[in-house]
Amino acid sequence: MKKANVNKSGKSTRARKVTERARLISGASPNVATVEELVTANRILYAQSVLDGYGHVSARHDTKAHRFWMSRSMAPGLVTPGDIMEFDLDGEPVDARGRGTYAERFIHSEIYRRRPDVNAIVHSHSPAVIPFGVTNVPLRPIFHMSGFLGTGVPVFEIREVAGDTDMLVRNPALGAALALRLDDKPAALMRGHGSVTVGISLPQAVFRAVYLEVNARLQSEAMKLGSINFLTSEEARLASAMSDMHLSRPWTLWKYEVTRRNPA
Ligand code: MN
Repeated sequence: MKKANVNKSGKSTRARKVTERARLISGASPNVATVEELVTANRILYAQSVLDGYGHVSARHDTKAHRFWMSRSMAPGLVTPGDIMEFDLDGEPVDARGRGTYAERFIHSEIYRRRPDVNAIVHSHSPAVIPFGVTNVPLRPIFHMSGFLGTGVPVFEIREVAGDTDMLVRNPALGAALALRLDDKPAALMRGHGSVTVGISLPQAVFRAVYLEVNARLQSEAMKLGSINFLTSEEARLASAMSDMHLSRPWTLWKYEVTRRNPA
């Protein structure tokens, strides 16, 4: 028979999670909706093959702008409300309760520190983006869904900042250097590693993470066929504004796919 997973308090891990979930849903916290949305974002990004066992997504705290929410260290596709932890802008957990943290939480803390306009961040290793971080070919908007790339996509070169490393943004100084390279843009590539996308909301940051990957795939395909007629900067601006007006459409679909619950 399977051994019950019981912790020191004698309560099973499952029961603890259920209690935590009930506390969150009961309205004990004003941030319940954001925590629920962040769980959904984790599930969506896994379902959309943007995140796999690695990568993470965060949301700025609703009532404390100097705090943000992110999962404990685990695969994003398995995140539940009880896994969501609160962090300060030094990347330190406010109430860890023994839960492990992502080594690269400083990506999030330092971008929130530098970008008051940003309320959600995705860090991904999605594969089609990687070639554009390691060559001199810039990622550019190839179709209207990726108009947000029209302002340029900076590449963060960790070697310039720290020499040879394990490539991870594992301290505040590296996070600050990445945030500086991102500047005021919606996305940045990380050479030999992955990417980061930001947004004013979880649906916008998730949309951008999904279409960053799609754009990279399409651009690589088109490059094999010949020279590419990209969107002009004005087309990109107009298309991006259009997409932002309809973020709830893909978000509702993606949410349905991971919850199997129709929107109310
Ligand atoms: Mn990473």
